[in-house]
Amino acid sequence: MSAERRVLPEVASYKSSTGVRIYSIACDAFPGLIANIYLLLEAGPPTLVDTGSGFGDANKQLLAGLEKIRADFDEPIALADIRRIVLTHGHIDHIGGLTYLHRKLPKVEIAIHELDLRILTNYEERVAVAKKTFRAFLQQAGVEKDLLPAFMDIYGYSKKNVHSLPVTHPLVDGQVLDGLRFIHTPGHCPGQVCIGLGNVVLSADHILPEITPHQAPESIMPYTGLGHYLESLDKMAHTGGFDLGLGGHGPPIREFYKRVAEIRDSHIRKLDKISVIIRDSPEPLTTSQISKQLYTHVMGFHTLLALEEVAAHVEYLYQHGKLAIANLDQYQSEGNPAIRYVLA
Ligand SMILES: [Zn+2]
Ligand SMILES: [Zn+2]
Repeated sequence: MSAERRVLPEVASYKSSTGVRIYSIACDAFPGLIANIYLLLEAGPPTLVDTGSGFGDANKQLLAGLEKIRADFDEPIALADIRRIVLTHGHIDHIGGLTYLHRKLPKVEIAIHELDLRILTNYEERVAVAKKTFRAFLQQAGVEKDLLPAFMDIYGYSKKNVHSLPVTHPLVDGQVLDGLRFIHTPGHCPGQVCIGLGNVVLSADHILPEITPHQAPESIMPYTGLGHYLESLDKMAHTGGFDLGLGGHGPPIREFYKRVAEIRDSHIRKLDKISVIIRDSPEPLTTSQISKQLYTHVMGFHTLLALEEVAAHVEYLYQHGKLAIANLDQYQSEGNPAIRYVLA
C-alpha cells in the first residue's frame, strides 16, 4: 500500500434541472479508496445519499463536509436536520457510516432497494448465508486449500462493524420518492440503484468515472454477475436525458453515455481475453488459474477481487454456451471439486 495519502477532493455543488441542490462530500472509505456521500436539498426532506464506510476518519470527514456546506455555500444545514438516508447499495463503503448516523438520528428514514434490505435489517443472517456460498465458490474456483482461510478472513473483514438497522422505505424499480427516480440496476450488487433527478443521475457504483465497477459471480449471490450487470448498463444507456453522472467514487461524469459504452467495451475485451487464455491452454483451466494468468501482479485483497472479477466473466461465458466443464465425471462424483473449463 502506498504511504502517500491522497488529498480529499473539496465539497462540490451541482443543481439538477428539477431544482435539487446536490452537494458531494468525499470521505476516506479505506486506505486507497475514497467514497462520495451526497447531500440533497429540495428533494423532500434534507437527504443523504450513502454514508461512507464509518471506518477511520470517515464519520468526522462527513461532519466536516456538512459544516463546510453551511459555512461556504450558505446552506442552513446541520447533521440534526438530516431526515432521510438513501443507500444506493449494501456495500460497506456506502452503508458503513449508517450505524453512527442512526445513533445520532434515531428517527431518520432509511431507504434501500428491497434486494439489499436484509443486509441492514438482518445483518448476521446475511453474513452467514454469504460466507457459505463464498466458501463453496472458492472451492469451485480451484483456490488452494491452504489459502482458503486467508481468503475467508479477507471476506469476513469487510462484514464486521455493521449492526442490524430498521428500513423505513424498501425501494423497487421505477419508484419515485419526492422527485427521486429509482432505477434498479443489479449486477455490482443485488439492490444497486441509480437515482435520477432530472438531468442528473446519481450512478452510485453502477457507473464510475475512473474504474470499471467490480463484478462477482452470481453463484455467490443472486442478482450479481456480469449478465445482470450488462443488462443494467443497457438499461441506463436506454434511459435518456442525463447530462451529468455523479458516482459513488471519483469525480463527476460529464459524458455519461460515453462512459457507459466504455465500461461495456472493457467487459467485452475481458471476455475475449479469457476465451483466448482458455483456448491457448494445453490443459483445462480452473477459474483461479485463469485469474493468475490475467492478473499476474496482484496481492492480498486484490487477489480476491481479481478472482471474483474473472469468475464473473467465466460464469458469463459458461452461461452463454461458450465454455464446457472438462472434468464432468469428477464434478458428479465428488462433493464440490474445482471446475476445469475448456471452450465449448
Ligand atoms: Zn459497491
Ligand atoms: Zn463503492
